[in-house]
Amino acid sequence: PNTEVTGETYVIGTDTTFAPFEYRKDGELTGIDMDLIRDIAKNQGFTVEIKSLGFDAALQALQSNQVDGVIAGMSITDERGLIFDFSDPYFDSGVQMAVAEDNTKISGYADLAGENVVAKRGSEGETFANSIKDEYGFTVKALADSATMYDDVKAGNSVAVFDDYPVLAYGINQNNGLKSVTEKEQGSSYGFAVNKGQNPELLAAFNTGLAELKTSGEYQDILDTYLEQPA
Ligand code: GLN
Repeated sequence: PNTEVTGETYVIGTDTTFAPFEYRKDGELTGIDMDLIRDIAKNQGFTVEIKSLGFDAALQALQSNQVDGVIAGMSITDERGLIFDFSDPYFDSGVQMAVAEDNTKISGYADLAGENVVAKRGSEGETFANSIKDEYGFTVKALADSATMYDDVKAGNSVAVFDDYPVLAYGINQNNGLKSVTEKEQGSSYGFAVNKGQNPELLAAFNTGLAELKTSGEYQDILDTYLEQPA
């Protein structure tokens, strides 16, 4: 145990529906991020109280010190680095586009002219979609969570969704009614975040715990549990 965090309770914000990183199974919050933060807490001797707030809401809660940290498949970016401190990276990711399974019209960005797409408010998917919307002539709608975004595409309100590829792939593998149609865009890795200059002992404990979970094989076991399960 790490004496600086021993006995402390930290409030951690997360996304709502971002399988396999955080989602509910039989009512319980589960997923890679949830196992990681709980196992790191156990390893380092602190306690976590997890709040399933939604991605943008979790980042805002962190900025206003309503939570001590965020673990939410959150990409480490330079822009966010101005207001948050990030842990060591723990998972490589990036953005991809998906459409409804039965959509035969949209097979690339060039087919998006005049169409609506959807992405998550405050996410890298939204930033990426906005960065190419003028070039390809489409509009971007922002919604708060991945499940609602996918429903929006299946209902035909948006023709495509931009989301992180491990999350899209997991859902598609579970037959969620979508298919991916573009290559993965180069993206940033996920990190655990604290407010800039706040809770440095929590950040240090996360990094130490993560390194220990990697050495012990527990980190790989967590990934295997969620990424290798059959559809
Ligand atoms: N990785 C993306 C980002 O940080 C999306 C995270 C999420 O939707 N939970 O913006």
